[in-house]
Formats: sequence, C-alpha cells, structure tokens
Amino acid sequence: MTVMERIKTFWREKADLKTRMYYVIMVVGAGAILTSLIITIIQGYGAPAIITTAVCLVFALTLLVLSIWLHIEKIGRYIMAYFVNIVFMPLIFFACGGVESGMPVYYLLTLFIIGVLLEGKGRILAYIICLIVLDTTIALNYLRPDLVADMEFGKFVEDVFVTLIIASATIIVIISMIVYAYDKERRRSEELMERLRELSIKDELSGLYNRRELFRRLDAIYLSASGDSIPISKKNCYVAMLDIDDFKKLNDTYGHIFGDQVLAAVSAIMRGQTDEGKGELAARYGGEEFVCVLRASDQEDAYQRIDAIRKEIEAYAWKEVPGLTVTISGGITSCDGYEDANLVMHDADSLLYKAKKDGKNQIKGFTHI
Ligand code: GH3
Ligand code: MG
Ligand code: MG
Repeated sequence: MTVMERIKTFWREKADLKTRMYYVIMVVGAGAILTSLIITIIQGYGAPAIITTAVCLVFALTLLVLSIWLHIEKIGRYIMAYFVNIVFMPLIFFACGGVESGMPVYYLLTLFIIGVLLEGKGRILAYIICLIVLDTTIALNYLRPDLVADMEFGKFVEDVFVTLIIASATIIVIISMIVYAYDKERRRSEELMERLRELSIKDELSGLYNRRELFRRLDAIYLSASGDSIPISKKNCYVAMLDIDDFKKLNDTYGHIFGDQVLAAVSAIMRGQTDEGKGELAARYGGEEFVCVLRASDQEDAYQRIDAIRKEIEAYAWKEVPGLTVTISGGITSCDGYEDANLVMHDADSLLYKAKKDGKNQIKGFTHI
C-alpha cells in the first residue's frame, strides 16, 4: 500500500467528525508551530522563544504519533485542549514577548480549538479554566513585566504579522473542513431520508406501492386535504383489483423463486401501464393481489386500460419456462358514487371474485358482467 492509500484508509476509519477535526488540528497545528519555529530562529527572537516553540513542536508531534499508533484520539483531544491552553500557551506567552507579541491572537485561536475539539460540560469547563489561566498571564504581564521576555518594537510588528497569517490559515482550514463535513453529512442524511421514504411506501419484491400507501392515496381521493402534488378527483378515477390465477399451483410446480420472478414481472407490466404523472398508481395489495388506480375519460376507456394489462400478462413469454402462460383476473369499478375507499375496494373485490368464478383470465366491471 502506498503512503497515500494508507492515509486514505486511515481517514475512512476515522468516521467520527470530532476525531477527524482532532487530526486536522494536530496536523495543521504542527505545521503552524514548525513555521513559527523557523521564523523564530530566522528572526533571532532569543533562546527562550526558540526553546519553548521547539518543545511545543516535539509535544505536538509526539501526541500526533501516539494518537495514530495507539488510537487514543479521545484522550488526545483533552490533552490537546487542556495541556496546550494551561501549560504551553502561558510558557510561550512569557518566552515570546507577552501582550507585546502575537500571543493574544494565539489565545483566541486556542479558545476556538476548544470549541471544535470538546463537547458538553467538558467544553464549558475547559473554557472557564483556560480563560482564567490566560487572563492570569495577562494580569501577571501587567503586574510583573520583568517576567516577560522583551521584544523590540520592529519584531513585535513582525510577530503580530506572522501570527495573524498562521492563525488565519489555521482557522480557514478548520472552518473549511467543518463546512465540508457538514455538507457531506447533510447530503447523506437527505439521501437516507429519501431511501427511508421509499422503503416506507414501496414493496420490496415488486417495486410497487405497498398497501399502506395505497390506502393513503385512496383516502386522499375521498378526503379533500390530500397534500399530494397531483390531487386526484373522484371523477374519472377507477379502481381495479387484480389477482394472479392459480398462483399456488405455479409456485408448487416451478418453485417459490420462480413465483417471485412472476410477481416481479407482472408488477413491472402494471408499473409500465400506469402513469404516475397523472396521479395513477399500481400497488401490491397482498401476496399475489394488486390494485391499480387509473384515470380514464369514461368507464369503457378504464375497462380497456385494465384489460390491456391482463392481455399483456397473458402474452408475456417466460424465458425460464417456455410455453407457460400466466393469467390474471380482475374487477374494476369507478371511485365516483362511493363514500369512502373501503366501499370501492369491497366492490372491486366482489367483481374479482365473480371473474374467478366465471373461469378466470378476465376482468369484470361496468357492462362486462
Ligand atoms: P386463484 O386463481 O383462485 O387466485 O388461486 P391461487 O392459487 O392464485 O390463490 P391462493 O390464494 O390459493 O394462493 C396464493 C398463493 O400465493 C399462495 C402463496 O404461497 C403465494 N404467495 C403469496 N405471496 C407470495 C410471494 O411473495 N412469493 C411467492 N412466490 N408466492 C407467494
Ligand atoms: Mg390467485
Ligand atoms: Mg389471491
């Protein structure tokens, strides 16, 4: 595995946002301290500043390596937040010029890091402790200026300049990462919600709407507040109940798996013959029973539409069992003239029963009785 692949694998394993932020801060932080050290050496800020910055760098790198090696990110986050703010920041503060340096900017940066790394009460506690510690150093700077290493005016301006660049770069990288991670998470949860919605309204095997969604839509036809994007009016709306003929025998003869394939193929035909854009739908009502809600100009038009589905299923060539003919029976009625969905379904079911009794492979309804 190449180094890049190793890093990618490592990153994928660290799916938790706080852990990822921790590593971003550690890497960006180590880079910032290294830059700071180089500048401190080049500008000749004096031994105390160089030594404390170098110790900081060694500490950050050690913590980074240990975290990767021992997977101690959670402890690492706390060490980073507390130790850096309580121990290192005051040390660097006194070694690098106190308030007359870029330190106040770093103070703000470390408070920002606490917000990113910690959570809940731990975060509040860290803020309180760190604010006390940091404010104490500033008070000490005022009361005992002799404790603070001097910095010439020219160097002070340079230091503030460099500090601002490093702090801004760190903030920009961290904020960009957070926004990116947030966006990704939001997209993921939107996709998940959509998938859940699909699962809650569709039947897995057939891909058709399930019984719950069927009744929700049928009820919406009778109750005016449907909330659907395409409200269906009772007028020109027809309900057909369909059932595969002798499906038990088919299962017994060719096996349950083939039975499932028949269900899927029959469902696909129904899906193909219904236009969702017009508010039509095909649903799996039960095992091998289906309901189609159609819109048609009149009863004969509706009858011909549903009979076309019957004919297409009858004519279907089954590759798995050449020569096999699968048929369906059905009953169709108009939504108009009923008080609620249950009554329509009841009549469609009675017509289906009649179709079965009269020899199957036929649709009953209207004039076709
Ligand atoms: P009829 O022509 O009177 O409708 O007879 P039928 O055999 O189709 O009806 P019956 O109600 O006796 O049998 C339905 C069969 O459908 C029984 C059941 O095992 C089968 N079945 C129900 N759900 C599924 C399924 O999801 N997959 C498969 N393969 N079979 C199913
Ligand atoms: Mg059947
Ligand atoms: Mg049945």
